[in-house]
Amino acid sequence: KSVVAIVGRPNVGKSTIFNRLVGERISIVEDIPGVTRDRIYSQAEWLNREFNLIDTGGIEAGDEPLLVQMRQQAEIAIDEADVIIFLVNGKEGITGADEEVAKLLFKSNKPIVLGVNKIDNPEMQETIYEYYSLGFGEPFPISGAHGLGLGDLLDEVIRHFPPEEEPEDDDETIYFSVIGRPNVGKSSLVNALLNEDRVIVSNMEGTTRDAVDTPFTRDGQDYVIIDTAGMRKRGKVYETTEKYSVLRTLKAIERADVALVLIDAETGIIEQDKRVAGYAHEEGRAVVIVVNKWDTVESDQKAMQKFEEDIRTQFQFLDYAPIVFLSAETKKRLHTLLPVVKMVSENHAKRIPTNLLNDVIMDAIAVNPTPTFKGKRLKVLYATQVSVKPPSFVIFVNDPELMHFSYKRFLENKIREAIDYTGTPINIFVRRRQ
Ligand code: GDP
Repeated sequence: KSVVAIVGRPNVGKSTIFNRLVGERISIVEDIPGVTRDRIYSQAEWLNREFNLIDTGGIEAGDEPLLVQMRQQAEIAIDEADVIIFLVNGKEGITGADEEVAKLLFKSNKPIVLGVNKIDNPEMQETIYEYYSLGFGEPFPISGAHGLGLGDLLDEVIRHFPPEEEPEDDDETIYFSVIGRPNVGKSSLVNALLNEDRVIVSNMEGTTRDAVDTPFTRDGQDYVIIDTAGMRKRGKVYETTEKYSVLRTLKAIERADVALVLIDAETGIIEQDKRVAGYAHEEGRAVVIVVNKWDTVESDQKAMQKFEEDIRTQFQFLDYAPIVFLSAETKKRLHTLLPVVKMVSENHAKRIPTNLLNDVIMDAIAVNPTPTFKGKRLKVLYATQVSVKPPSFVIFVNDPELMHFSYKRFLENKIREAIDYTGTPINIFVRRRQ
């Protein structure tokens, strides 16, 4: 997916535009704790092209002077984005700070689309010509407050996207990423997995700029680790901006089928762990929760049970994810990991026959009749699987409004009871039959 960054001096309206462009998506994930709070990074879509959007204004740089902060934000955008939206304030004209930002962007060789914000009414359109002098071509008048002009701006943005990649098919290789907050042991785990193995071919550059893909084979199965470790090289801004590391995580998740969410057994679960896990869930990846540093815990059956209960309480949205306890350092139980990765990856790509699916649903309805609302009963006509990774189903009904979420949840549980979907989220869409 392409990355679009919004850059500009403070108070030009970056966050307003960001929120406009991501729009409804944010509310969809609201129920995942910690994921949506203060986000500077989200997915957006225009004309069926999905992209990732960064609000660089949300990147905190501590007590640095304004100019330094602006420079850092612009640098991140230049490094990470495929297209940059350079935002200025149409009510204030071009300021010295705008020119500073412009200077940095000029050197970048990235496509830049100039948005002139706060053009709230047609009379103000006249004023935008002065912005040609910034040297980025046609200025696009927009109003974040009123949602005007965004379509034209986005048309121009996606015009600069590279052509869409064909999805690779028939590839038996399992792509997985290792994610988690700093110091949970991501690098240690990757090294432990690879050192065990003598047939590492090479370190190939990933097709995405920063990810390093490392292929290896174990028990006849090909794997590729999509490593975020290589994305750390850039130093201070990257290390000090915790929120920004989200972007790194997302890049790794995006290209993987399976995300290993690492938890530190020594320190226990913290809020940041949930956020990282939330992203994997949101992206529809298969997930394995890996409790690392298990060597530091008095290891008996009870301790494991206790930790597992803790995980289940705190990660309710990942109730489908299996948990593996191990130590990357001592390699204890390390051998239990890859078979689980393989299992969840298979479930993630699983297709089930339509008749089996419909049998499961009709049996479920026989046990627990469909709900009624205002005297009208939900009628389920039939269901079909529409895609994999993750498995996604459409249930056709007489009236989608009658499908209460608890009933949908019940149907999902029945599908999971009948078919092993351990480790993968499943999507159920409810549609009215035409
Ligand atoms: P990353 O930031 O997630 O990549 O974490 P690192 O792999 O750099 O590990 C952070 C620290 O945790 C290092 O000091 C490791 O030696 C330590 N560590 C990693 N795995 C284990 C483990 O299984 N047991 C123990 N006791 N320490 C570990």
